Parts: sequence; structure tokens; C-alpha cells
Amino acid sequence: MIREQLQSRGITDARVLEAMGRIPRHLFVAEDQQIEAYSDHALPIDDGQTISQPYIVGLMSQALRLSGSERVLEVGSGSGYQTAILCLLAREVYSIEQSRLLAEKTVGRLAQLGLKNARVFVGDGGYGLVEFAPYDAILCAAAPPSVPDPLRQQLTPQGGRLVLPVGGAQRQFLLLIERTGEQFRARRLSAVRFVPLVGRYGEHSDAGDRTP
Ligand code: SAH
Repeated sequence: MIREQLQSRGITDARVLEAMGRIPRHLFVAEDQQIEAYSDHALPIDDGQTISQPYIVGLMSQALRLSGSERVLEVGSGSGYQTAILCLLAREVYSIEQSRLLAEKTVGRLAQLGLKNARVFVGDGGYGLVEFAPYDAILCAAAPPSVPDPLRQQLTPQGGRLVLPVGGAQRQFLLLIERTGEQFRARRLSAVRFVPLVGRYGEHSDAGDRTP
């Protein structure tokens, strides 16, 4: 997985490669999917969600340029695989997931791996997690139709970085947004396909206000 799916496609950040080499991905998928755990694609997890393709986890992790001292927010814990990688790459990880079942599984898996620097919350991550803001980096793993303003505003003003997919069901781009004061510079990294962000900042925001 590391050589064929990551290094050969430009994932070169040594810390990202090391972290992805250390976290056993098969622990994050259902038993009947374990044979596929290291394959080059996303896989179904509970509640109709997916664990991201390894390359996409590598690409998003690398884009955040983490050195180990950062406070990071993750929106959409999913299986908790990306959360575990972030635990190895940053100092403090806050992860918010709308599915209680998935959040509980993530907590169990992180504990099983002895990872203690993440806190997992259940709620609508489109609002970010204002209690612990600002964040040096934010990673959002579900696609809103446009960038949720709270995520932008919860970035550290000097050099905060946000990576997220933006778009509809058919067409999405992975964006890297960097903040300098009130300036936000966006760059497209790749065409991608993520599950939609639900809740207030999702496509159909009639789900009502579900503040965390
Ligand atoms: N990177 C994860 C994949 C996450 S899939 C992994 O590798 O396992 C996206 C996740 O975002 C899903 O678990 C979904 O439940 C969650 N999600 C969607 N909208 C959300 C919202 N508004 N707030 C929090 N989580 C959300």
C-alpha cells in the first residue's frame, strides 16, 4: 500500500508515510471486508458511510503539512482511520462525527491502539467545534456544496490550513485553503468523490439546526 498506492503517486512526506505504515488499516473495517483493507479504494463502513481510499488519506494528511505541534480538527471521523493517522501527526486532535455509532467505534479503536491525544464528539461538524478553536489545521472528510464559514473562521489566522472536498454528488474537488489574517487562498488538489456533508451546511439544510 505504502509503495504502490502512496509513494508512486506523490505522497512523499516521511511522517505521513510512517504514520500510515504504523496504523493497521484492517482494524478499521468490518470483519468481512478485512481482505480488502489495504486495497486501492474506499470501503463501506457502518451507517452507509465509507472509509476513504488510502491515497486520499495520504493526500489530505500531506496537504496539512503537520510537524507534530498542531491542534487539529477533523470533521467526519467515519471509521476513525484518518483520526488515528492524525494522532501520530499532530499534538491534539478533535474529531466530530454525526453518527453516534461511528463515533463510539472510533473511540474504541483509538483506545485499542493506545492513542490518547484525540477527543471525539457527536454533532454537526459543519459548525466546527468552536470550544477548542482556533485550529492550525482542519480536515473535513464529507463534501459540502460550498465551504462552511465556521470552518474557515476557526482556522488560526496566521497560516491555518483547511482541506476538504467541495461540490455535489457528481462533481467534487479537494481544496486546500490557507488563511492569512482575513485572506483565504484556495488551491484545487484533485477531483474526488466523498460522501455528502449532512446537516446545516449540507446540500439540503432542512435537517434543522443541530449544533454540537
Ligand atoms: N476519513 C474517514 C471517512 C469519513 S466518511 C475514514 O477514513 O474512515 C465521512 C464521514 O463524515 C461519515 O462518517 C459521516 O457520518 C460524517 N459526516 C457527514 N456529515 C457530517 C457532519 N455534518 N458532521 C459530522 N460528521 C459528518
